[in-house]
Amino acid sequence: MAEIIDGKAISAQIKDECKEKVAKLKAEGKEVCLAVIQVGNDPASSVYVGNKKKACEYIGAKSLAYELKEETTNEELLELIDKLNNDDSVNGILVQLPLPKHLNEDEVLKRINPDKDVDGFHPVNVGRLSIGEKGFVSCTPAGIIQLLKRSNVDIEGKECVVIGRSNIVGKPMAILMLRENATVTICHSRTKDLKEVTKRADILIVAIGKPKMIDASYVKEGAVVIDVGIHRVDPNSKKLCGDVDYDSVEPIASKITPVPGGVGPMTIAMLMNNLVNSVE
Ligand code: NDP
Repeated sequence: MAEIIDGKAISAQIKDECKEKVAKLKAEGKEVCLAVIQVGNDPASSVYVGNKKKACEYIGAKSLAYELKEETTNEELLELIDKLNNDDSVNGILVQLPLPKHLNEDEVLKRINPDKDVDGFHPVNVGRLSIGEKGFVSCTPAGIIQLLKRSNVDIEGKECVVIGRSNIVGKPMAILMLRENATVTICHSRTKDLKEVTKRADILIVAIGKPKMIDASYVKEGAVVIDVGIHRVDPNSKKLCGDVDYDSVEPIASKITPVPGGVGPMTIAMLMNNLVNSVE
């Protein structure tokens, strides 16, 4: 039986630490402020934006919500980002993705001042991460490092396999594990004999976007398994599952993240952490 890595409890710890830091900053006369931009009214995005506002409230930070209409042009959105870039009272700027199809996501994200890019998606921050400089790190992979460290998982010298090479999860995850001195392998859809590679992993991080694909036949006995995936079990149910087949893997793993309650809650906690760091 695996020990469960409790993302809910660890994310609550991190938010409480942020709350303390915000109170200290306030005592020094410094406000913490996040600007969140949403274009259109995609219901899932509205839920995410609402959760970010609530997290800001919890830690004592100010949040500015910009709810722009679906027809907003690229120029209008870029103008707003320029305005927020030049506003010294705004520490972090976040554009909720996905954007409506007519907008140029790439151009929009690159327009955010890298020193206010609390999502860590700007190429400057990705570059800083690669060469080991300080900068904002994408929240989900940064959260996974916290889950591992705060669950006393020893990373140095371990074989780590990351399945998935997306810009927001897989790639930054691999770089972070390398920074922690793991021996890292990245797998993707063209990897030959995936099982042969994943069975070498002491730490297996799964971010493939395929419900329950990774069962016990991919996992070494005693491995630590981190499941990044989030899916509805079926379209009409509220029940969630991950990319890992939890029931099959849990009996052989040494530690495992559940879905929900594992990686999911860490993303907003690390966003708050990035926001506080942007002021500190
Ligand atoms: P992407 O779809 O961008 O990337 C998926 C990656 O998995 C790709 O690199 C792809 O390879 C690889 N892949 C797909 N199929 C296979 C396969 N059969 N064998 C090996 N590799 C495969 O997804 P994301 O990285 O954005 O997200 C991954 C999962 O994590 C999703 O379920 C998403 O919902 C979830 N997620 C959860 C978050 C959280 O807060 N918990 C935050 C972000 C994401 P290739 O590059 O070759 O196509």
